[in-house]
Amino acid sequence: MNKAWHTRNQKDIIKELNSSETGLTAQEAKQRLEKDGPNKLSEGKKRTLLGIFFAQFGDLMIWVLIGAAIVSAVAPLLEGGHPEFTDAAIILVVVLLNAVLGTIQESKAEAALDALKQMAAPGAKVLRGGNLLKIPASELVVGDIISLEAGDSVPADIRIIESASLKIEESALTGESVPVDKSSVTIGDEKAPLGDRLCMGFLGTSVTYGRATAIVVETGMNTQMGAIASHLASTEKETTPLQKKLNQISNIISIGVLGIAVLVFALIMLSKTEKVNDAFMTSVALAVAAIPEGMVAVVTIVLAMGMRRMAGRGAIIRRLPAVETLGSTQVICSDKTGTLTQNKMTVVKLWTERSTPSEKGVGDNVDPLFFEAMFHCNDSRLDDSNNPIGDPTETAFITHLLTTNLRKAEDIRNRTRAGEIPFDSERKLSTVAIKHNGAMRIFVKGAPDVLLSRCKMSAGLQVEAEKQNEEMAKKALRVLAYGYKDVEKADFNNAYEVENGLTFIGLAGMIDPARPEAKAAIAVCRKAGIVPVMITGDHKITAVAIATDLGILSANDSRRAITGAELELMSEADLDRDVEHIGVYARVAPEHKSRIVAAWQRKGKIVSMTGDGVNDAPALKSADIGVGMGITGTDVSKGASDMVLTDDNFATIVTAVGEGRRIFDNIHKTVRFLLSSNAGEVLAILITTLLGWKLLLPVHILWINLVTDTFPALALGVEPAEKDIMERKPRDQKTPFFTGREWGRVVLTGAAEATLAIIAFIIGGGTENQSVAMTMAFLTLALSQLFAAVGFQSERHSAFSMRFKEHKPLWLAFFGSALLQLVVILVPPIRDLFELSMLDWLQWVQVVALCLLMLLFIEGQKLVARIINK
Ligand code: ATP
Repeated sequence: MNKAWHTRNQKDIIKELNSSETGLTAQEAKQRLEKDGPNKLSEGKKRTLLGIFFAQFGDLMIWVLIGAAIVSAVAPLLEGGHPEFTDAAIILVVVLLNAVLGTIQESKAEAALDALKQMAAPGAKVLRGGNLLKIPASELVVGDIISLEAGDSVPADIRIIESASLKIEESALTGESVPVDKSSVTIGDEKAPLGDRLCMGFLGTSVTYGRATAIVVETGMNTQMGAIASHLASTEKETTPLQKKLNQISNIISIGVLGIAVLVFALIMLSKTEKVNDAFMTSVALAVAAIPEGMVAVVTIVLAMGMRRMAGRGAIIRRLPAVETLGSTQVICSDKTGTLTQNKMTVVKLWTERSTPSEKGVGDNVDPLFFEAMFHCNDSRLDDSNNPIGDPTETAFITHLLTTNLRKAEDIRNRTRAGEIPFDSERKLSTVAIKHNGAMRIFVKGAPDVLLSRCKMSAGLQVEAEKQNEEMAKKALRVLAYGYKDVEKADFNNAYEVENGLTFIGLAGMIDPARPEAKAAIAVCRKAGIVPVMITGDHKITAVAIATDLGILSANDSRRAITGAELELMSEADLDRDVEHIGVYARVAPEHKSRIVAAWQRKGKIVSMTGDGVNDAPALKSADIGVGMGITGTDVSKGASDMVLTDDNFATIVTAVGEGRRIFDNIHKTVRFLLSSNAGEVLAILITTLLGWKLLLPVHILWINLVTDTFPALALGVEPAEKDIMERKPRDQKTPFFTGREWGRVVLTGAAEATLAIIAFIIGGGTENQSVAMTMAFLTLALSQLFAAVGFQSERHSAFSMRFKEHKPLWLAFFGSALLQLVVILVPPIRDLFELSMLDWLQWVQVVALCLLMLLFIEGQKLVARIINK
């Protein structure tokens, strides 16, 4: 088959690929998909479960332990004894158990991330058996007829069949960042470079303007992108700033601890209280106790689980770091239409010079030319059941024509046009030309302020039209104006020329009700110290009416509304001075959004910005959290976002911020738990080693650290949000993850745990009664950490006020870990292996009492903090 698609006529290609103007049948498409495989670039190899398991052994810590196991087995040989396998066996079991737990957690996290990737995958609009469907781009096959419009990414390599003002940005492929004009005209030169194949579109590029119908000629790895993708197919993972910070903390502690371990080893050797083997094992235990090896893994899992939960609530996170940033969001800049409002436009009022304005307005006494304009200058289509599909502003008019019986469905299906200039939010106009009396009639509709300035009209009419516009806008209506002109011919590449010198027809007012949940979400924002800002292409008066209804503007706050034109007159210094006092930006062009983001960022604020259009991409990228719209958003805007809303709903952003705060809180709790536990273990061993006591055997430390600690750490990571989470001010990103005071609390909690373990050892009889004393210390250390976890469930509120059933994972972890701990003591062979003894009932009571003290200690700390902060 000749592959030079650009040199051939589109009709021949349709024939050659056995397709038709109405597309492939569903059956044919299915067969082709089975034969050619999905339209996807290969992603490199996926990790298998076994691969993940072996990756657990990449950790230095694990090798220290394996080394320790070997040394402990063969060391007695050096001293003339027999090899000793007990310790080695326990270490290896613990190491294996740890690797299995790690594998389960990591594969779960990976599955969650994979599922998200699927959800964020791009789609394509395809004609199958005459119906326009939206399908995942991966299901496209060669021969499919697709429809493209501004903002779509090109989902495969395509040959353009028919187009209007089409521009495609191909920098991903050609490096050329200026969008290229494309059309269906065949290119003669077979060897033309990709950039010159103007009748083709390539996978990975995006439509910036206009629209087109095209046929898919290559998919997946056969595309031009596929040819160069083999070296792009990397599955590099993104790490968040927090993960990096925790990695650093973990590394610093690790290096410090290894130093201390060597020192302790030397000390014990010098004091000659223990054999080489025991001294070595004590140092290893110390290292294991102190190195927070699970910390980074747990954080990754918490982030991944959090992302999954957010997806369930309608917010798909595209970049992991966004999860963290979300929680610190201080300003949410949101589009109006569809995000704060329902995007269900209904025409409720029409006005022309000749018609009397009426409350219902819809149709009575209105100039027939108005309906002619409404009918032709429209981009929506009808689906099989005659429901209009397309942009709600467009469908509103068709719905109006159908419901008032002014036009029939067939009329709408049979419309033809002689030319068009599609709507874009820069011009705020859309234009369609039809054949009329051997010449051409051009209908233009758009924002009244723009359209009126393009009309030839008397001053009186202009004043009256402006007055009507204002009155409708005050009632929160979106107003569009219509105009027309008759011409011999027109150059549709010159929009200004075509859309100028018009005769005014009339105004149409549409209602787009506010989303009920948006109002509540704005109230939540206010309580949570988050500033809501509305940004809209709509008229200032309409915007103010809606903003006031939603509570974005209110009588008792001094914020005001400005227009894009006013913004343009402001210098950066003016904007810096005023930005905190502006709640609504109306009639803005997309590029204004970047300025607004930058101004807030100069104030040191974390800004989230929504966007749906192709021109919103720069603002979405520069915002700390770019928010794309899953339903109405263009591929380009989604691609530039950190988070995509599946329901386009403002309230979902606020929910996601709450989730972000919860995740951050939980990571904080988890890390605090792990570090305090480690501190407790290290202090206990250090102090008792210096005293010459054998408080715990190294395997005990390994057990606590690598087995029983893991569950509460994970449970804290999935804790529900605290009740007042959206009543606090946003967290300042500049504050360190742990402040000095928090580090102090970590050490203090550790010291308390160590003290309790040492007290238990003393109550148990100390070195005189080694085995029982050690059993009590072992139990106390392990269980006091579990009680500490219960206390850490909230860093502010009392654990005694929590509701049992809201914290199931925590209790499961608590009782599960406690049970594991009991098994070690109650099952005789394991007890012997761990060199422990059975306790009498009084000793059990003493242990539990000591552990309860731990909880009281943490609650006491919180109580003091609450009193101080009052
Ligand atoms: P937001 O930015 O909040 O989504 P918006 O949808 O009003 O607000 P745009 O889509 O940029 O913003 O529209 C800007 C203005 O252009 C509208 O207020 C309206 O006057 C006009 N307009 C919108 N859609 C069309 C259309 N399909 N044809 C003609 N004019 C339109």
